[in-house]
Amino acid sequence: MTSVARRSGPARHTGAEAYPGPRREPASRPAPSRPSGRPPARPVPARPGNRPARIGARRVLAVIIAGAAMVIFLWWHSTPGVHGLGGWLTGAGEVLGLLCGYGVVVLVALMSRLPPLERGLGTDKMARWHAMGGRYIVSLVVAHGLLIVWGYAATAHASVVSESATLLTQYPDVLMATVAGFLLLGIGIVSMRAARRRVRYETWYFLHLYTYLAIALAFSHQLADGAAFVSNLAARFWWSAMYLTVLVLVLWYRVAVPLLAYRRHRFEVLGVTAEGPGVISVYIGGSRLEELDAEPGQFFRWRFLTRSLWWSSHPFSLSAAPGSDMLRITVKNLGDHSQALAQLQPGTRVFAEGPYGAFTPAGSGRGVVLLAGGVGITPLRAIFATLPGHVTLIYRASSERDLVFRDELDAIAAARGATVHYLVGSRAEIGGDPLSPRVLRSLVPGLDEQEAYVCGPAGMTSASVRALRAAGVPRQRIHFESFEF
Ligand SMILES: Cc1cc2nc3c(=O)[nH]c(=O)nc-3n(C[C@H](O)[C@H](O)[C@H](O)COP(=O)(O)OP(=O)(O)OC[C@H]3O[C@@H](n4cnc5c(N)ncnc54)[C@H](O)[C@@H]3O)c2cc1C
Repeated sequence: MTSVARRSGPARHTGAEAYPGPRREPASRPAPSRPSGRPPARPVPARPGNRPARIGARRVLAVIIAGAAMVIFLWWHSTPGVHGLGGWLTGAGEVLGLLCGYGVVVLVALMSRLPPLERGLGTDKMARWHAMGGRYIVSLVVAHGLLIVWGYAATAHASVVSESATLLTQYPDVLMATVAGFLLLGIGIVSMRAARRRVRYETWYFLHLYTYLAIALAFSHQLADGAAFVSNLAARFWWSAMYLTVLVLVLWYRVAVPLLAYRRHRFEVLGVTAEGPGVISVYIGGSRLEELDAEPGQFFRWRFLTRSLWWSSHPFSLSAAPGSDMLRITVKNLGDHSQALAQLQPGTRVFAEGPYGAFTPAGSGRGVVLLAGGVGITPLRAIFATLPGHVTLIYRASSERDLVFRDELDAIAAARGATVHYLVGSRAEIGGDPLSPRVLRSLVPGLDEQEAYVCGPAGMTSASVRALRAAGVPRQRIHFESFEF
């Protein structure tokens, strides 16, 4: 194991210091082949006043639960009484149907890129909620269909098969809703972890877009057949307004905002440099970049407008503090797309959606420890350069060759009196766990008083979070970002 600590000047512990906003970045590599006549990139001071408010997880959950309670109230209000087995089954089917109709709106809203949610919850947490909610919704859809058919059959003293045929042929829009239900079920199956590992990300993503078709197909049967809506104009209005609002949010934040950002900022590739084996940095220029209000630790979804790359956008974190005319991302070659970025030519136009993510310094005034593994160094490199106060960076890599930014990190550490520890080598070579609570405590004096930020491969991240907890860092002071949605 190599463990190198570098520091220039006394390390400052600023426990009582208020968070004054990001520092100017002391070290950043100039972009290659910059168009002449442009000034060098200047890191821009943050403009906290312009940033969207952050909505915390508890508040979002409270709003979601309150909405679900209103949905149940709507059913109760529109149901004069429940009689017999058929009535109970139908009633249960109706409640579940309403909850499905509401749930899909919540799921789409979570993915609408609404800035207060992106900044408050963070994209990875919303993606986890979305995936978990999706599993519930698909189960509810199946249960809704089965209970309604069974309940109607019990009430009409008919067989389930003949009642299914009646529902499909004689009730308005039920056939379309059934197709929608099967679509959602199929998408749910493809999204299950075991199946998802076997399909390419792009295949899964484009299949997932059929969810929008399923939602559209299922919408009208709710108003046409739902007991809560047929004779309640206010409820129809509320329900339609809810769907329309989410549609507008999706179109605005996922389509219009990126187009407007492209027009305003004119993003283009300035150049590409190699950082290490299979790792490159892409420098992206543009105008008025300070208006993006991007923070170190955040990411954008990048769509490079070349013949082979234009059709998909990929998330990459800023690996240096955002400048007024230049942004930098650093990419590890993990597949087709990331590999192709090495061939980008200066002048390639870029669509950038963002900034996204809540993996930004909380500004508690405490000392900060950053734990990076592999390419997880990218957002932490930007945070390391700009976060005020005392910062310790622990950078885990399996070999010296895999360490990127080493010169930059050493220069930043020297310039600001921070500490870097490189933990290099396989566990077998090291002869133990390099990120055990004992090792972490020995590397970071007063660790349990600090704020911790972790980014790396999934296994390393969860092991680090456990080790930090065991070392006495409270859960709410441990922040981590996953590079997988
Ligand atoms: C918030 C966030 C920040 C990231 N920051 C960085 C970074 O700074 N540097 C870096 O090297 N990598 C980063 N990644 C990972 C990077 O996005 C993927 O490695 C890249 O998209 C892989 O695409 P591919 O086609 O080359 O590989 P593939 O073989 O197609 O995909 C490999 C894996 O990457 C993920 N992935 C693929 N395409 C996408 C997509 N369009 N959107 C989301 N995930 C996808 C999937 O989990 C997939 O299994 C980040 C990911 C996230 C979610």
